[in-house]
Amino acid sequence: MDISKQTVKLDCPECKKSITVTLQQVADETTIKCSCGQSIKLTDSNGSAKKSIRDINKSFKSLENTLKKFGK
Ligand SMILES: [Zn+2]
Repeated sequence: MDISKQTVKLDCPECKKSITVTLQQVADETTIKCSCGQSIKLTDSNGSAKKSIRDINKSFKSLENTLKKFGK
């Protein structure tokens, strides 16, 4: 299992629709497009998504705990 495939949700600034992106997309600062046509540039502030992927992949224990949090 690869944590970078884990998804996170964010709201479109235009239509407030919930959009699902992967941690990898955040780490890569991908520009995604909402179904309303709004382009959203993902920003990995301070490289935190990259760091999370790196740190979490190091430790299966952390991975399990993180997934439990995501499941809430
Ligand atoms: Zn939208």
